[in-house]
Amino acid sequence: MGETTLTGRVVSAHGRHYRVAIQPSGETRHCYPRGKRTGIAVGDNVQILPEGQQEGLITEILPRRNLFYRSDAQRSKLFAANIDQLLLVLAAEPVFSDDLLGRALVAAHSADISVVILLNKADLPGTAAARARLAVPESLGTPVLSLSALDYAQVHAQLDALLKNQCTLLLGQSGMGKSTLLNALVPEAQAATQAHSEALGTGRHTTTQTRLHPLPGGGDIIDSPGFQAFGLQHLTPHEIAHGFPEFAPAIEQCRFYNCTHQHEPECGVLAAMASGQISANRHALYMRILAENQAAKRY
Ligand code: GDP
Repeated sequence: MGETTLTGRVVSAHGRHYRVAIQPSGETRHCYPRGKRTGIAVGDNVQILPEGQQEGLITEILPRRNLFYRSDAQRSKLFAANIDQLLLVLAAEPVFSDDLLGRALVAAHSADISVVILLNKADLPGTAAARARLAVPESLGTPVLSLSALDYAQVHAQLDALLKNQCTLLLGQSGMGKSTLLNALVPEAQAATQAHSEALGTGRHTTTQTRLHPLPGGGDIIDSPGFQAFGLQHLTPHEIAHGFPEFAPAIEQCRFYNCTHQHEPECGVLAAMASGQISANRHALYMRILAENQAAKRY
């Protein structure tokens, strides 16, 4: 005798507790996974067995379109599943990290998720210099928008069409203005964040959990906590290379089909770097990610 299951979408995750919006009503239930199951992400479509009026047991994760995550030697940190695009929020102040930006781009490219870079705090004088630091991703086809999240009219003028009917993951280091931006886009979000941090007793309004918010104009935006590290230990060497789209034409020139683009003779990538077509900084990032993954495998 099977009980009736419901289908829903995970809209927030906190430890092993999940809030699931049941389809089609949209009412949310507090759910937890069956057994020791982990690895459920915001954005996942799941089946649940209802328990009472407000709770449920997650019995199954339905097939995913994609999963965006980072991982270090200890564990994986899931950002979100089934996303259409990534909105990477940067600003001139605090200074953003080229390394973290590069890693987020590699993670997105390797999962075939499109990225838009949002250079926030356009009102600050350092913005032109910050924009110049985005020349490489911009030349590789990643759109760069620039605005001030404090100016709500500007936010709507530049982002409404981009976000409409899409599921967008907001990602950025702390302090770049993600919360400010979210409040401009989803007026109820501030209340939700505030209530949550009060419940946790932190008294701070920083995002501590990943949460999906429906956008008033259609579509969803997923807010995630700011991060300070971005390990990519789940990627194979091939996937890492695929995460650097500018390497693709050069890789075709490599003599060896299994070239790792580190030291091999007649390597197309090393040749392209020598001639200035591939930036030495980007190749150094590629080497760092590869070295971390190799070191992790030795333990
Ligand atoms: P989060 O950590 O990414 O969520 O960043 P917050 O939204 O909390 O913003 C960090 C600080 O930057 C706050 O003091 C905001 O008021 C400020 N801020 C956010 N957007 C802008 C902007 O467009 N211009 C300026 N000048 N400050 C901003």
